[in-house]
Amino acid sequence: MKEFFKSIYNFFKGLGYQKKYEAYRADTASELEPLLHCPFASRLSGYEQKTRGEYLKGYPEGAILHYTAGRHGDARSDLKLAKDSGFSYMVIDHKGNLFQQQDLNKWGYHAGKSSWPEIGENVSSRLVGIEVQCGGLLTHKNGKFFTWFNKEIPSSEVRTKYCHETNTWKYFHKFTEAQEAMLLDVLTWLYENNPDVFKTDLILSHHEVSPDRKEDVGDSLSWSMDELRGIVEARSTVH
Ligand SMILES: [Zn+2]
Repeated sequence: MKEFFKSIYNFFKGLGYQKKYEAYRADTASELEPLLHCPFASRLSGYEQKTRGEYLKGYPEGAILHYTAGRHGDARSDLKLAKDSGFSYMVIDHKGNLFQQQDLNKWGYHAGKSSWPEIGENVSSRLVGIEVQCGGLLTHKNGKFFTWFNKEIPSSEVRTKYCHETNTWKYFHKFTEAQEAMLLDVLTWLYENNPDVFKTDLILSHHEVSPDRKEDVGDSLSWSMDELRGIVEARSTVH
């Protein structure tokens, strides 16, 4: 199975999905303690996020992926939203840049009412949130695609999926290649930085922990969540 995911990963690697942080690897490996700030994440002053306490194991055991489904210019709009709403999460902006405003030992709310068998109900207190800027679930009108706030999205940026449960089509604004490259990098880094605590099988989509009320990240992501977990496992040096 691992070979299968490795072949998927190698395919994307050929398209430019290399890890961007090879230069940081030696530093990280020499640390006795896991780093609490991702070396390739920016931190902006004035956008501190509210945290609620220490993670149970001092570090996230996995991650929940979200899309913002919002109007955005750059990361500041979503960092401000987090600050004003009392949430805490990392942000990947529309260009694929990563932002982390709080240390990785402190948790904050990002997943609302959610649950997962190994985690229980307060998943925010165990898994770090990663928001990707994206229009999210779209509506289809007269051959065109629109976000919930009526911004038209070109059809080349739309992924269409048939939903067998509801017998309807769903339309998602795709994450960009730069965003997915960063997503792979940050997930792989989170894992390699503390493999005793962070588990790739706890990389979950918001939809997986809140299936009745959330669509994110759905088919905005070009892989299924099982594929994503397998790819992160396969590309990491921790085995
Ligand atoms: Zn979400």
